[in-house]
Amino acid sequence: MNPPPLPDAAALFLDFDGCLVEIAHRPDAVVVSDALRDLLARLTDRLGGALALISGRDVADLRGHLGDFPGIIAGSHGSELSVAPGDIRTLHQVPFDAAALHSRAHELAAPHPAILVEEKPHGVAMHYREDPSLQNFVEDAMQDLAAQNPHLMLQPAKMALELRPAGVGKDTALAQLMQMQPFEGRVPVFAGDDTTDEPAMEEVQSRGGFAIKIGDGPTAARHRLSDPAALAAWLDASLT
Ligand SMILES: [Mg+2]
Repeated sequence: MNPPPLPDAAALFLDFDGCLVEIAHRPDAVVVSDALRDLLARLTDRLGGALALISGRDVADLRGHLGDFPGIIAGSHGSELSVAPGDIRTLHQVPFDAAALHSRAHELAAPHPAILVEEKPHGVAMHYREDPSLQNFVEDAMQDLAAQNPHLMLQPAKMALELRPAGVGKDTALAQLMQMQPFEGRVPVFAGDDTTDEPAMEEVQSRGGFAIKIGDGPTAARHRLSDPAALAAWLDASLT
């Protein structure tokens, strides 16, 4: 079902990869168009600043792709918050040795150069998009890492598996933002494309708002759009 028009009093929360931008063959190869930057700026203005990106990427990475995006970002699956460029605060820190985790991940992945190890400040991801037959290998390697890092949890994603802090998620990030100005009291709307987005879908719907699933696949969201271009068109239409 197509989503209704964006309410004037919306608090808008958007995932990034697969939602605002098409997923690229490598995470650093995503393309953020001028049109998307312009759309995000106009939405921020229209909503009185009540627009936040909620991503599994860390804040510094995301700001690097977004240029001068002035808005709010919850990064690393809700472990980090940034209210303006240059500002990054940690919301949730679990005890683990990131350097040791990253180095062990590279060791485990070394036999298969097609695996991309993505070092994250709050975890690590292995991508097998370049050779989907490596899925089982990556699952075994990541299970191995998970067993050594009890404060991290396995997060399946599209053609990737990630270890990220347990105890937070896009839903907790969203709930935290809804207690802050200018989000408080507004109607929450969330769009995302992946399994990691599902808790946030349920969170907005339990708060009287609505969720939009981007693309195929099972979802708790009551609305669906086919791809990032369809989401951009829907957002753009809400501004006219
Ligand atoms: Mg996504």
